[in-house]
Amino acid sequence: MKFNTQAIHAGYTIEPTTKSVAVPIYQTTSYAFDNTQHGADLFNLTVPGNIYTRIMNPTTDVLEQRVAALEGGVAALAVASGMAAITYAVQTLVQAGDNIIAASALYGGTYNLFAHTLPRQGIEVRFFDVKHPEQIAQLADEKTKLVFCESISNPAIKVADIPQIAQLAHQVGVPLIVDNTVPSPVLCRPLELGADIVIQSLTKYLGGHGNSLGGAIIDGGKFDWKAHSDRFPMLTTPDASYHGVNYSEHFGAAAFIARARVVPLRNTGAAISPMNVFLILQGIETVALRMQRHCENALAVAEFLQNHPQVAWVNYPGLANSPDKALIDRDFNGKASGLLSFGIKGGREAGAKFIDALKVFVRLVNIGDTRSLACHSATTTHRQLSSEELKTAGVSEDMVRLSVGIEDIDDLIADLAQALEAAK
Ligand SMILES: *Cc1c(COP(=O)(O)O)cnc(C)c1O
Repeated sequence: MKFNTQAIHAGYTIEPTTKSVAVPIYQTTSYAFDNTQHGADLFNLTVPGNIYTRIMNPTTDVLEQRVAALEGGVAALAVASGMAAITYAVQTLVQAGDNIIAASALYGGTYNLFAHTLPRQGIEVRFFDVKHPEQIAQLADEKTKLVFCESISNPAIKVADIPQIAQLAHQVGVPLIVDNTVPSPVLCRPLELGADIVIQSLTKYLGGHGNSLGGAIIDGGKFDWKAHSDRFPMLTTPDASYHGVNYSEHFGAAAFIARARVVPLRNTGAAISPMNVFLILQGIETVALRMQRHCENALAVAEFLQNHPQVAWVNYPGLANSPDKALIDRDFNGKASGLLSFGIKGGREAGAKFIDALKVFVRLVNIGDTRSLACHSATTTHRQLSSEELKTAGVSEDMVRLSVGIEDIDDLIADLAQALEAAK
C-alpha cells in the first residue's frame, strides 16, 4: 500500500464483532485472562495478547501499526507525548555512566531534557553542530550509545543531512535517532535515509488539529544490536527485571520497541489514552492533504515576508534562495513543512507589538495545527535558556516563529501585513 492508503487503512481490519468502520475506542484499563495459564503465558511473553492499558491497548495498537507503516518501520510504540517518546527512546539504550551525542539545534523541551535532566541522572550529553556532523567522530567513545538529531529542527529550522549523520553514527557503532516531527513522514522518511529510529510528536502534524498530545517511537529494525553487544547489553543479554528475557533473541528486529514497552513505559507509565489515540488516528487520515496545504501556504508567507521592508531575515528552507533548499529537494520531496521564522526589524519590542496585533494567527506555543500560530521563542518556549544557550540553540531575540496553518492564504497574508504595520 502507498502512503495515503496506509494513512487510512494500515493496522485496522474491520472489527468482526461489531463491524465498526471507525477504529473502536477501547476505553478499558485491563483485559480478562481465560485462566491462570493464559495469564502466565501473557506475562511470560509466550503468547501475544493484552494485559493492561499502561503497556498495550487495541486502539493504540492500530495507531502503532499505522505510524510504523507511514515511517517505513518494523514496529512502533505510542506514548503520552513526544517528550515521553524521546525520554523512552533514550532510556531503552542508555544508563548512568553512558553518554549520547545530540545536535544542539533542538526543540526546547528536548534541549532541557538533554542539557539539564539527563546529566543529573548520570547521562552525559555531548552536543554537535548539526551543520558539522564530522564532530561526531571526535565526541564518541566506548560509552556512547546513540546519536540524536531533528530532521528539520524546531524552532531554529536547521535541516539535517540525515544520510551523512547516519553514516557517521554507524562508523562509531551507534544508532541514529531522528525526531521527524516537523516534516512528518509525508515529506521525509528518515529510516529510508539511513536513520535507525524515528520519533514523532503526534501532537503536531500527524494529529494535526491541536486537540491531543501523543508521541511515538518507530524502529526501522535494521540496527544490528547483536553485532554491538558489548555496547548494548540491555538488548542482547537476559533482563532480570523481565523474566530473563533476551530482547534481541526473543523479538529479533523488534527488540528495541519491545524493551521500550516493557521497561521504560511499563515502569514509568507515560501511557497514551485511547481517546487521544482515536483523535490522532482521525488526523492521520488526512495528513498528506493537510501537509500539502501547509507547505504551499508557508512558502507563500515566506515569499511575502522576504519582500517586506520591516523584515530583516526569513528562514524557510523551501525558499529558492535558502542554503538548505538542495537538501529539501533531495530528502524532503522538495517541500519544507509549515514552520518558518523571521527577524522583525526593531527587535524584541517590535516583535511583541507584532505578536499582539495578530488577529488570525493565534498566539501560542505549538506547531502543526490546522490553525496558523505565532510565537516569540525568546520569551516563551526558550525563556529558561541563557543568551549563550539561546545562541547554541539558534534562537535570536528578534525571532518570530510561525506555524502556518491551512486557512486561505489571502487571510493569512492580510493578517501579517496589518500586524507588521502595527509594529512600525
Ligand atoms: C513538540 C515537539 C516535541 C515534543 O512533543 P510533545 O508532544 O509536545 O511532548 C518534540 N520534538 C519536536 C520537534 C517538537 O516540535
